[in-house]
Amino acid sequence: MSSLFPGLTGDPTDTPDERPALRFGDRSLTYAELAAAAGALADRISGAGGPVAVWATPTLETAVGVVAALLAGVPAVPLNPKSGESELGHILKDSSPTLVLTAHGDQLPSAFGALERIDVAIGTGTGTGTGTGVRVSAEGPGATYDFTPETPALIVYTSGTTGPPKGAVIPRRAVAATLDALADAWQWTGEDVLVHGLPLFHVHGLILGILGPLRRGGSVRHLGRFGTEGVTRELNDGATMLFGVPTMYHRIAEALPGDPELAEALGRARLLVSGSAALPVHDHERITAATGQRVVERYGMTETLMNTSVRADGEPRAGTVGVPLPGVELRLVEEDGAPITAYDGETVGEIQVRGPNLFTEYLNRPDATAAAFTDDGWFRTGDMAVRDPDGYVRIVGRKATDLIKSGGYKIGAGEIENALLEHAGVREAAVTGEPDADLGERIVAWIVPADAQSPPHADELANHVAARLAPHKRPRVVRYLDALPRNDMGKIMKRALPGE
Ligand code: ATP
Ligand code: MG
Repeated sequence: MSSLFPGLTGDPTDTPDERPALRFGDRSLTYAELAAAAGALADRISGAGGPVAVWATPTLETAVGVVAALLAGVPAVPLNPKSGESELGHILKDSSPTLVLTAHGDQLPSAFGALERIDVAIGTGTGTGTGTGVRVSAEGPGATYDFTPETPALIVYTSGTTGPPKGAVIPRRAVAATLDALADAWQWTGEDVLVHGLPLFHVHGLILGILGPLRRGGSVRHLGRFGTEGVTRELNDGATMLFGVPTMYHRIAEALPGDPELAEALGRARLLVSGSAALPVHDHERITAATGQRVVERYGMTETLMNTSVRADGEPRAGTVGVPLPGVELRLVEEDGAPITAYDGETVGEIQVRGPNLFTEYLNRPDATAAAFTDDGWFRTGDMAVRDPDGYVRIVGRKATDLIKSGGYKIGAGEIENALLEHAGVREAAVTGEPDADLGERIVAWIVPADAQSPPHADELANHVAARLAPHKRPRVVRYLDALPRNDMGKIMKRALPGE
């Protein structure tokens, strides 16, 4: 078929028409069918004159809608269907879409008001679907559209982990750059078949999980909802890769002892990838022990797409996010702005990045955009890290919430969380700092016990951490919860902890 990424240099897609492209449940499209469906829709939305919102349910219609917007050169704004009214209202006001694409039959909340709506409906299996709003013809795109590599492909809202979501304007150039860099790092080809269980309104699930395989000419099988049975089934049926967030790998780690079929299926995968938040070392080690596989960790952001990854041909190392991807410049910077030049595995600095993978700006936020870049164009990620002597990056945590200044030390929450998770009585753990008259800040551990009836004692946990790390890293306060506050990507929202 013709390219899904017209106008981008180095487009490798030359995919046989009959190759499967997308499958959601029992509905699927070949590349020819996808080109026809997205082409017809592109014709329909090309005159939109502004961004197009996509009600991003985990459906074929969402994927086709986004590909259509790419074809037409119109920026797509993927919306989380689980957003509350106020968040949705904020995003709609901020991005001012001219119309919204939905799967036929979706109910839209009242925040949409009278915004024009296109129901995308795609026939199952045949690709010559019906469609209330869109007639899918076999002829494909009827027009050529105008755009450059700098034309926005997507406006993606950040996950809202540290504050209200910001709209990152992502140009076509960045999408292509990040996907091609990942192809190099992961030896990702058109032969790969991805098992996908992520939502479609963030970079991970949408850009990596849908556009990634399409750019390579491979295929995606979306589970609708993540579950270990689906992972086993698809890996047994020829899938080669799994992308997940740490909460999914945690579920896998918990299921493995009682599920030899899952272990065998994962053992067969070519590549298991984790990202969006730190993968606890304990979960990683349990998966490796049961399957013989390592999990490749990569690190990225909505604003920068992907920055680093462990390479498929690189040395596995639990607890690291690997090395900068091809084309990405990365440095660690001390508080006074001085770059750290010696990699000693200990000196903590803020990660700054530069490269073709970067976004253009925060929508309607020139102040936030200006604050995010240094004078010479480095993007301040707000993430803190150390580098091993050979350059592997280890994320310590976010500057805002995960760096605790206690007793003259700078302590990362992540390593304490990892140590707590190794305790058999701990199911989930989050570590924060709170003001302390003596120490500046004291370390607080928020624990979800494995057994609510007999939670591990605070002293025991403090000793457990002190024995593994160092005495000054032991939690001074332990608080017990039934569950940690997490967002849709399973990220711990520390700002929503009680009293935080
Ligand atoms: P907001 O910016 O709205 O507060 P957010 O930062 O969670 O939300 P995203 O852009 O989805 O929004 O997430 C990017 C962040 O996720 C990174 O800055 C980093 O803190 C974290 N992250 C992503 N991948 C990893 C990883 N492999 N290990 C540790 N942290 C990661
Ligand atoms: Mg962020």
